Amino acid sequence: MIPTDPAAEAALSRLTIDLGAVRRNYRRLVKELGGVPCAGVVKADGYGLGAARVAPALSAEGCRIFFVATLDEAVRLRPVLPDATVCCLNGLLAGTEDVFVAHRIVPVLNALDQITRWQTHGGRLGRSLPAILHVDTGMNRLGLGDDEWDRVLGTPGVLDGVDWQYLISHLAVADEPDNPANALQLARFQRVRQRMPNGMKASLANSSGIFLGTPYHFDLGRPGVALYGGRPSSIGPNPLECPIRLEGRVLQVRDVPAGDSVGYGNSWTAGRRSRIATVAAGYADGYLRSLSGAGTVALGARTCPVVGRVSMDLITVDVTDVPPAEIAPGTFVEVLGPTITPDAAADAAGTIGYELLTALGRRYVRHYVDTAVETITVDRT
Ligand SMILES: *Cc1c(COP(=O)(O)O)cnc(C)c1O
Repeated sequence: MIPTDPAAEAALSRLTIDLGAVRRNYRRLVKELGGVPCAGVVKADGYGLGAARVAPALSAEGCRIFFVATLDEAVRLRPVLPDATVCCLNGLLAGTEDVFVAHRIVPVLNALDQITRWQTHGGRLGRSLPAILHVDTGMNRLGLGDDEWDRVLGTPGVLDGVDWQYLISHLAVADEPDNPANALQLARFQRVRQRMPNGMKASLANSSGIFLGTPYHFDLGRPGVALYGGRPSSIGPNPLECPIRLEGRVLQVRDVPAGDSVGYGNSWTAGRRSRIATVAAGYADGYLRSLSGAGTVALGARTCPVVGRVSMDLITVDVTDVPPAEIAPGTFVEVLGPTITPDAAADAAGTIGYELLTALGRRYVRHYVDTAVETITVDRT
């Protein structure tokens, strides 16, 4: 599977990204949506996996609408997918209207002044410009608040002169299916939608929202993390596949007598004579320091605990119970991947899989494989 590229061969750590798994996750979400179209959220460089590689893979599966957070991300995605609809979640900052038009980016309008500016800009160009209207239904982060949409709905013509693509809102606790806040947000969203111009399409569900059932689906799903294997629900098994495998090489294996400490701060002391493997992955690679004494790595089917502090470039792993023949300098161990999933590592680190994925560093060699079409490329940029 690994290309014979001297620099890649010599790499101390490597990240393998299976675009085929991303594609299968997309298909799984399409199935869950039962005929409702499915967009792809590729903000933060495709949640760390590389938007320029993930977006075309999704496009090949029929995805036509992409969401990013910033205008900069949108502009960089445009040449990758010349014909796709690219939407920018973070809104329309004053003075950026021309950039949106020049690159055919659809702004998600989050406040009344953004609507007015987009109308005015369209008026100047003599056409209705496409946009998405974001209403807040309880998260209080982005989107028109109650007072604003009351004014919108009470003012005739206030939505005129814009080519409205979708009305959207975002769920705050969709990963907790039993939380009553989901139904409250749904009810508020339905109330706003009923008073919108006829035929205005709607979208509410992120990854987790898609698994809340058809009432949450409306006209478009907007999954992000589930495409990248993230667990959509806090209960039940994860139906998605982990597309990443981050591996670091063992640099040394040493014997540590009982009573000796390992790593910065002497935070771990061997309770028995131990064998410690030092592995080339650290917090500069996105292996969070909060995994100190909490993480595990995988050696084939075996898992071994990370002991002592995570350093910038290195971790130390207790391999006392691994047969010596199975581990030596040069051996790759899985630090994150199908066995040590980002969600499981995040649980150990006191964070969420999203943070681990988006923290994936750029130091290691990246291999992109596509098990759907069996191609391998190496990307060292
Ligand atoms: C990030 C984001 C999404 C995708 O969320 P996931 O939980 O990753 O599926 C959808 N909609 C909005 C508005 C977002 O900000």
